Parts: sequence; C-alpha cells; structure tokens
Amino acid sequence: MNVILLGAPGAGKGTQATRLAEKYSIPHISTGDIFRENIKKQTPIGVVAKSYIDKGQLVPDEVTVEIVKQRLSQDDCKNGYLLDGFPRNLFQAEELDKFSTVEKVVNIDVDLTKLLKRITGRRVCPCGESYHVDFLNGKTTCAKCGAELYQRADDNEETVASRLSVYKNQTAPLIDYYEKAGKLLVIDGDKTIDEVFSEIVSKLG
Ligand code: ADP
Ligand code: AMP
Repeated sequence: MNVILLGAPGAGKGTQATRLAEKYSIPHISTGDIFRENIKKQTPIGVVAKSYIDKGQLVPDEVTVEIVKQRLSQDDCKNGYLLDGFPRNLFQAEELDKFSTVEKVVNIDVDLTKLLKRITGRRVCPCGESYHVDFLNGKTTCAKCGAELYQRADDNEETVASRLSVYKNQTAPLIDYYEKAGKLLVIDGDKTIDEVFSEIVSKLG
C-alpha cells in the first residue's frame, strides 16, 4: 500500500497519517519531520533546509528527492508507506514515479480560508502527534506520551502566507496530475478528525 497524503499546509495530513500508519502498520514518512530532525541535529541538510523553511519556501528538489529516495529504499517500506508532504511540485512527482509506484493519492480538501487558524493554533509533540489550542483546554502536554507540546517555528502568520502561496502555485497542480493517473481519492477535510479518518479508510478499502 503506497499512499500519498496530499493537501494544503494545515489540511490535516500529519494528524491522519499517524492514525493511518497505526491502522495499516506502514511507516509515516513526513519530509517536513525529516527536515526538522536534521535542523535539530544541525546536520548539513538541516542548515540548508532551515534557510528555506523559515521563509516558507520549498527546500530544493535535489535535496528533497534524494532524501525520499533513500528513505523509501529502507526495509520497513516493503509493504507500503504513507508519504506526507511529498511530492510538493510536479518535478518531485515525476521523480517519485521513477523510483516507486504510487497506488493511491488521498487529497484532503479543506477550505483554504480555515488554514491560517489551523496552522497558527497548531501545537506539536516530539512524538509526532499534533493538537490545536482550541481543543487542548489549556493543557500543554501530549495526551499520548506526556511530553511538553511546542509551536513550530514556521507556524507564524508571515511564513504561512508564503506556504499557502507555494501550495497554490506548485502543489495544487498535483491534484490534476494524480487524477489523470486514476489514483486520486478526494476527502472532505472540513469534517472532524474522526470523520475524515473514517472517510479515508472507507475509500482506501
Ligand atoms: P498538516 O500535516 O496537513 O500540515 P496537521 O495534521 O498538522 O496538518 O493539522 C493542522 C492543525 O489542524 C492541527 O492543529 C490539527 O490539530 C488541526 N486539525 C487537523 N485535522 C483537523 C480537522 N479535521 N478539524 C479540525 N482541526 C483539525
Ligand atoms: P510540512 O511539515 O510538510 O508543513 O513542511 C514544512 C516545510 O518543510 C515546508 O514549508 C518546506 O519548506 C519544507 N518541505 C517539506 N516537504 C518538502 C518537499 N517535499 N519539498 C520541499 N520542501 C519541503
């Protein structure tokens, strides 16, 4: 089961990916998480990635594609994977087609006007779980593992504007690309987290 989760920043890809990875026992591979891990460890990739992520721009394709290629060649991807945040432009999608066969593309469709609130209210845990301040009732720790939640450095209004514009110009055309390939499943991402999850599971089969 080789699946891509497509959608604007804040659409709910990470939220659904952690649940789907558990249900189907396949790895959740988020390029954003891989970059953030590299930034934390101050690796050469992290240093390059940070300069783009801070501005809400895409990290160059040659760096990103190589990371995904290597990651998908690992043993745990043999029975499938959930790609979250990759591909993000046509070039990445075409490169991916050269080294892996994507079976389904889940497009989480959310009203773009809701995204700013979702992203600026997002609080994340090092374990991968993400929350929204509106539903935390003042709690500051993760319900799953107890660790302290934090706000991502790029989840500020200025960077979000640029990320949304990158999404519209570079990532949204992928909807058409995968529809033409007969792989696209469209999910209403404006519903609750549980409803979105059920819709994805029923459409994935
Ligand atoms: P993405 O990975 O697509 O950038 P996230 O999964 O991190 O998005 O979700 C962004 C924010 O929106 C988080 O604060 C998350 O808790 C919240 N969220 C996710 N799905 C929903 C939903 N269906 N309804 C309301 N809020 C949601
Ligand atoms: P995300 O965690 O998916 O919201 O991604 C955070 C940031 O990481 C993005 O704004 C980009 O700067 C960078 N990034 C993540 N995935 C990619 C990708 N596939 N191509 C280029 N940059 C990426």
